[in-house]
Amino acid sequence: MKYEPVIGLEIHIQLKTKSKMFCACDNTGEDKEPNTTICPICTGQPGTLPVINNQAIDWAILIGMVLNGKIAKFSKFDRKNYFYPDLPKGYQISQYDLPIVSGGYLEINNRKIKLERIHLEEDAAKLIHKKNSTLIDFNRAGTPLLEIVTKPEIKTPQEAKLFLQELRLIMRYQGVSCADMEKGHLRCDANISLRPIGGKKLYPKIEIKNLNSFKAVERALEYEIKRQAKLWEENKAPKEQETRGWDDAKGVTIEQRTKEEASDYRYFPEPDLPPLKIGEERINKIKRMKRETPQAKRKRFAEEYEFNSEESKALTDDRDLSYYAEQVISELRTWLLTLGLEGTEEEIWKENKRKLVKLVANWIINRLNKIVDESDSLIKEIKITPARFAKFISLIYQNKITSNLAQRILEKMFKTGSDPEHIIEEDDLTQMSDEKSLQETLKKIIKSNPKVVEDYKKGKANALQFLVGQAMKETKGKMDARQIVNLLKEIL
Ligand code: ZN
Ligand code: MN
Repeated sequence: MKYEPVIGLEIHIQLKTKSKMFCACDNTGEDKEPNTTICPICTGQPGTLPVINNQAIDWAILIGMVLNGKIAKFSKFDRKNYFYPDLPKGYQISQYDLPIVSGGYLEINNRKIKLERIHLEEDAAKLIHKKNSTLIDFNRAGTPLLEIVTKPEIKTPQEAKLFLQELRLIMRYQGVSCADMEKGHLRCDANISLRPIGGKKLYPKIEIKNLNSFKAVERALEYEIKRQAKLWEENKAPKEQETRGWDDAKGVTIEQRTKEEASDYRYFPEPDLPPLKIGEERINKIKRMKRETPQAKRKRFAEEYEFNSEESKALTDDRDLSYYAEQVISELRTWLLTLGLEGTEEEIWKENKRKLVKLVANWIINRLNKIVDESDSLIKEIKITPARFAKFISLIYQNKITSNLAQRILEKMFKTGSDPEHIIEEDDLTQMSDEKSLQETLKKIIKSNPKVVEDYKKGKANALQFLVGQAMKETKGKMDARQIVNLLKEIL
């Protein structure tokens, strides 16, 4: 291909503050009956006055910090005027020339994607289109929105998708938004133009709307690259900005309108709100609110616990899962100290860390996570406490249970939350839980099948399989087949 894509994103994120942006209305209206979390302010009645929600300001600054932006010392709100039925005032309170955050960047695969700005505004009402009419739900009107605009620096559809996914994770880690794209908490418009490879000039961009999932963002951009490349080939490259809508079912973008210029909105300062002065004290307070970022946590997980990059990613992709894993590891460290091993706490940990951490990663990522997913529950709601999960891992670590048995115990723990040792006792799994009793069982089987043993020694592969089958029957499937094979070979 002779052309390179130039992609920029405009993202709106709903903040889950307690109340709305400019009134005291409950901000959880998405789960409520339509038009029940509303008041004269957010329905745009004449004579009402907006009041700034300080939590929304704090959170905008917080995200600005996490995204390495410059926090304004002085900022203000402006009116963006346009008419639409979901906007009862006839204007949206937004920010124009003095956004609360300017610049910043987010690193994706070692590339810094620079940001233009981050500002605060209010969400509009929700239109519900029926066959012959349109209904309006004002519950959403006035929800705080964080608008994040990137510079046109994204190079591929995949990078755009990764950028959005990382942004979602950041919002969740800082606890400011669920950032669920399917629920409209995170909404994205993508701008894209092409240019000859290596060029610097920007060409008129196409804005794609109606992108409701990460996949849609990626697919729409891929489609648009192909469509625009063809236009370039035919000497018909876009000469002016245009807005197109993504049709997910058909997999195409459809022309909607040519883009309004900023002046069409007749921006002017909001006269009903005082400008914002953001002082040192407030900045320091917010700095203390800042939680570890997903990126920092991935790095720390790799360094501190020596998780490999896939393990770090899998564990940190869900904040609750990363908490859980860390609590389990901390419990295991404490447990190690009860074993009366020689050395300092640090030495004991170092000695056992690698194997224990591997077990934790494997059992949380591949097993526990799967059970949680299949049962449609959340990790933070499960009945297995980190302490009991740690005990469970310690049993595997000490070879007290095989992985077959461990899987069964884990499923039971998930249902009841019980102590793994109690489960073993209750279910009478204990006699098969150690290698020694297995060894005795195997010796017995060997003794009573001299002919088969002879065959095995002559090199008949089937013979071993027969013995394994006998052992599985004898142990009622409680033992791990691989362990049986290994032990059998050893004894024979
Ligand atoms: Zn209200
Ligand atoms: Mn906006």
